Amino acid sequence: MSLKQRPEDRDGFRFRGGCSAIDLPATLQARLSPAPRELLAIPADLARWLVSAGFATARALREAIYVLAGRRGRAQVKAARETLNRIAAGPAATPQLQADGSLRLAGSAAALLVTVAQEGVHLFGSDAAKLIRQCQSRTCTLYFVDTSRRGDRRWCSMSACGNKAKVKEFRRRSREA
Ligand SMILES: [Zn+2]
Repeated sequence: MSLKQRPEDRDGFRFRGGCSAIDLPATLQARLSPAPRELLAIPADLARWLVSAGFATARALREAIYVLAGRRGRAQVKAARETLNRIAAGPAATPQLQADGSLRLAGSAAALLVTVAQEGVHLFGSDAAKLIRQCQSRTCTLYFVDTSRRGDRRWCSMSACGNKAKVKEFRRRSREA
């Protein structure tokens, strides 16, 4: 692994193409040299590459969902929607009913990300999209779906940001008093 590892490089692999498929050929390094370096030498290497490739998809999906939740700028939203739809179109994890009546998702990390993307499509494509709010703390960037009965939820978590705001408000009032 080179010392100057770029952020898009992970675990010795290069993910610079913006898509896992186009990054796969990069697992044969120095392709044009007389002695190319095979990065998929043993089965465990492929497992490592697949996990790392999952990270690339995860990051792209994460940012797409963040943009869509915040409804930021038309061009940005369009690109995010395309990313979400592209990932959601892949083969998803398989829901499996367990003996104890619970549900388990079976599949690779990539398949599980497809399932998350599909959940995103269902969320943004439903009436629930109107209930997406951002936490009102100025230092918090978390989003949530406001399913409260009155639709007046303000914080990502009452015990975290909600409590901090309450303490701040209490201090402000006691200073004024
Ligand atoms: Zn918060």
